[in-house]
Amino acid sequence: MLSAQNDYFFPEGSRFDPDIPTPEAFLGYSVGDFHTRIDRMVAYMERLAEVSDKANFEIIGYTNERRPQIVLTITTPNNYDNLESIRQKHLKIAQPDAEVENLGEQPVIVLLGYNVHGNEPSSTEAAMLAAYYLVANTSSETAEFLENAVIFVDPAFNPDGRDRHSHWANMHKAKELVADPNDREHNEVWPGGRTNHYWFDLNRDWLPLAQVESRNRLAFYRKWLPNVVTDYHEMGTNSTYFFEPTKPFGSENPIVPRSNYEGLNNLFAEYYVDALDAIGSLYFTKEVFDNSYPGYGSTYPDIHGGLGMVFEQASSRGHVQESDTEDVTFAFTIRNHLRTSLATVRASVENRNTLLEHQRNFFAEAKAKGQKAATQTYIFGDPNDWNRTRAFAKLLLQHGIETYQLNEDMEIDDTKYPSGKAFMVPADQAQYLMVQTFFEPVTEFYDSVFYDASSWTVALTFGMPYGGLTQNIDRGDALTMDDLASAPKSIPMADYAYLIEWSDYLAPKALYYLLENEVNVSAAFQPFAAEVDGQRMDFGYGSLMIPVADQSLDPQMLNQKINEAANLSNIDIHTVASGFSLSGPDLGSRNFQVVKMPRAAMLIGDGTSAYEAGEIWHLLDTRYNMPMTKVDVNDFGGLPLERYNTLVLVSTYGNALDERQVERIKEWTQAGGNLILQRSAVSWAMGNKLISEKTVEAEKKEEKTEAERYDFETARNRSGSRRVGGVVFAADIDPSHPLAFGYRDRDIYVYRNHNILIQPSKSPYNTVVRYKDLPQVDGYVHPETLKMIQGSASTMVSPVGRGKAICLIDNPNFRGFWYGTNRLFMNSLFFGGMF
Ligand SMILES: [Zn+2]
Repeated sequence: MLSAQNDYFFPEGSRFDPDIPTPEAFLGYSVGDFHTRIDRMVAYMERLAEVSDKANFEIIGYTNERRPQIVLTITTPNNYDNLESIRQKHLKIAQPDAEVENLGEQPVIVLLGYNVHGNEPSSTEAAMLAAYYLVANTSSETAEFLENAVIFVDPAFNPDGRDRHSHWANMHKAKELVADPNDREHNEVWPGGRTNHYWFDLNRDWLPLAQVESRNRLAFYRKWLPNVVTDYHEMGTNSTYFFEPTKPFGSENPIVPRSNYEGLNNLFAEYYVDALDAIGSLYFTKEVFDNSYPGYGSTYPDIHGGLGMVFEQASSRGHVQESDTEDVTFAFTIRNHLRTSLATVRASVENRNTLLEHQRNFFAEAKAKGQKAATQTYIFGDPNDWNRTRAFAKLLLQHGIETYQLNEDMEIDDTKYPSGKAFMVPADQAQYLMVQTFFEPVTEFYDSVFYDASSWTVALTFGMPYGGLTQNIDRGDALTMDDLASAPKSIPMADYAYLIEWSDYLAPKALYYLLENEVNVSAAFQPFAAEVDGQRMDFGYGSLMIPVADQSLDPQMLNQKINEAANLSNIDIHTVASGFSLSGPDLGSRNFQVVKMPRAAMLIGDGTSAYEAGEIWHLLDTRYNMPMTKVDVNDFGGLPLERYNTLVLVSTYGNALDERQVERIKEWTQAGGNLILQRSAVSWAMGNKLISEKTVEAEKKEEKTEAERYDFETARNRSGSRRVGGVVFAADIDPSHPLAFGYRDRDIYVYRNHNILIQPSKSPYNTVVRYKDLPQVDGYVHPETLKMIQGSASTMVSPVGRGKAICLIDNPNFRGFWYGTNRLFMNSLFFGGMF
C-alpha cells in the first residue's frame, strides 16, 4: 500500500530512508483521499523536522484565525549550522556596493510556496510529498540538492482559506466518489475558500500588504531574498497544466529585465517539459496569465532579482470530477504539482551560478538605472494627515525601500513638504525598481488586454502628495519603523471644548470611540479658526467639536475618554478656552451639527461581491475598531430594518434580492435611511427604480457604408481592450460636501475597474466627485471608453424620499490599498445622514 502510493507519485526507482514516515503513514490515509487539514499538515512537517536533521520547522506568524504560517527549511545539517552566515552572505548580493566573496560557492535560495488560493488545494498536498522526497530520498542527486541549496517549503500561503475549502470537500465526500460536477462537493457556498479570513485575495496582496499573512510572509521573504519562488494554483477542470513563460510582453511587467523572461523562464521551462513529458501530462505555456502586477506571488520576486513562477493545474475541485475527457482525480492534480516542484529544485541547483549572478546583476543594474533616472529624488508627505503619511512610509520600509528624513522644509510645485512630516526617497538605490512601482505611473503598455489591474502606482492609491526633483539632495537620517511608532498623547483638560481635525486618516477611529462612549460630538460644516495655545489655528470642513459642558460625562471623565481616543487613533486633540472663533462660525453655531452613531448593516452572501464586502469589513474592523453587522441576503426578509440607520450594498450580480425585498429597501430609504451603494449596486438600484439616475450612452457612430471585418483570432484582443481593467483616473472633488469632509484639495485619484458610467446628477450639488476632462493617470484605457468616462460621476448623492442613496460608483476601498479614497466611505457612514 505504502509503496503503491510512492510508486504513483514519485519517479520510478526512487529509494527512501525507511525511518522517515511518508505522509500516508503519518496521516493514516493515502494522499489524495482526503483534503488534509492545516493542523495535520503542520504536524507532519513538524514530525519531519523531529526525525531528520535535514529538516527544520519554523512558525513565521499566525493568521487571523490563529492558524500557524510555517516554513520547513530543508538543507544539509552543515548548511543549517551555518545558516545565519549563509544568509548574511546571500543578502550582500542585493547590495551593489558590498563585496561578494566566492559567489559561486554560495547555495541557491529556493522558496517553494503553495496554495495561496485556499480552494486550489492540490499544492499543499504536493508540498508534503515534496518535503518528504527531499528529506527521505537516498539518491546522490537529492544529496546534491541539499548541499547546494537552502530550500524553504511554505506549504500554505493561505491557511484559513484552505481549511474553509478542505472542510467543504471532506464533509461532502461520499464513500462512493461522485464525479458529477453538479454535486455539492464541487460547488462551495459563498464566499468560498479562495480568499483569506477577510475575503481578500492573497495573490493580490504582495504589494499592498493589507493582510497579516502577507506581512508575515514578506518579512520572511526579505530576510532571504530567494532566487526562485513558486506560486501554485488550479484552474478550470477542462484545462491541462500551465507553467511559465507567460505571454511574452503583453502580460509581463514592463520594468522587469528581459533576461528574467527570456533567459531564466525559458531555462526553467525545459525542466518542466521533461518532468511532465515523463508522466504524459498535457500542458501549455506562453498563451495567457498576467504576470505584470507586483502584488502577485509570481511577479513580486521578479522585481527582486529572483525568479517567480506561477503554476496552474486543472482542478478536480473535490476528490474527483468529470471533465471533457477522463475524470480528473485529486491525486492526479497533486502529482503534477509535485513533479514540477522537484523539477524546480533540480533546475535551481543545476543553474545555481546563473541564478546567483542574475540576482547580483539585477540589483547592480537597478541601482545604475536609478542613478541615471530623470527623477533623482522623490519627496512625499501630507502635513494634514500624519497617519496616512505614516502608513505609506511604513509600506516603503516593509518593502525595503531606503527612505530618509528631510534636513529642511521643501516646496515643489506649490506643495509644501515640512521636515518631520515629509520624507525623501532617492532613486539611487538597489530597490530602484520598487521605487518606480511606488512613484512612477505607467500609461504605455505592450498589450491592451489585461487579466487584472493594469495600474498599481502606490503613491496614487494613497492619494499621497509627492514631487520629484531632478537632482540629489542631502539625505537626512534613515527613516526607521521606530520613527513611525505611535507617540503617546497627553491632552490637558479643556476649559471650553476639544477640537479634532478631520483630515487625519484615523480621525474616524477617534470619532467612533467617542460616540461609543456616549460623548456628544459635533462636526463643522464650515471651516473656522480658533485660538489654540495662544495661536491661531485653522480647522477645515468636518472638524470635530466636543464641548465640555452639555455632556453626560463629568469633565474629568470626558478628558479621560479624550485621551483614550487620542492614543487609540494616534491623533492630536486640541483644547480651546472660548467658543468665539477668530474666523468662521462660532462653536455654538448651527454650522456645527451633532454626529449620530452609525448603526450600519451590510448585505452579504450569494449574489454579492465577497471582495468588496470583505474590504469594508476589514477596513472597519482592523483600522477603525468598528463592528459591522453582516447580514446574509437570505436572512434579509426577517431583518428588523428599524434597528439600522445605514445599509451598505456592495456590488451585486444576479437577483440577490427579490422584488419584495427591493420594496422594503425603498420604503426604509424613503423614510430617512442612508443607503450606501457601491459599484454595480448603483446600476442594480437604477434597474430596480430605487434611484433615478442616467447612464452615459455611447455616441451613435455614423452609419458605415461597409461592415467592418477582422480576422477571427483577433476577436479577444479587440473586445478585451474596451474593458476597463483597472485604471487610476483624476477627478474633481467638492471639499465642502459632507461626503468629502477632510479633503483639503479639489484633486482626487479614483480607481476604476468596471464599465458602469453614470451621468452627473441633475442637481448641481449632488455630484461630489466627477471625472476630469483629461482623467487618465495610470493604466490602460481605450480612447472610446475614455471619451465616455470624461465628465461622468464617480461619487454622487441620489435623493430618495426623506432619505438618500450614496452612490460610490468607484470602489473606494479596493484591496485595502486605497487609503486615498477610504475617507469617502467613512464620511458616507458618519455624515451620510446629516445633510
Ligand atoms: Zn489561483
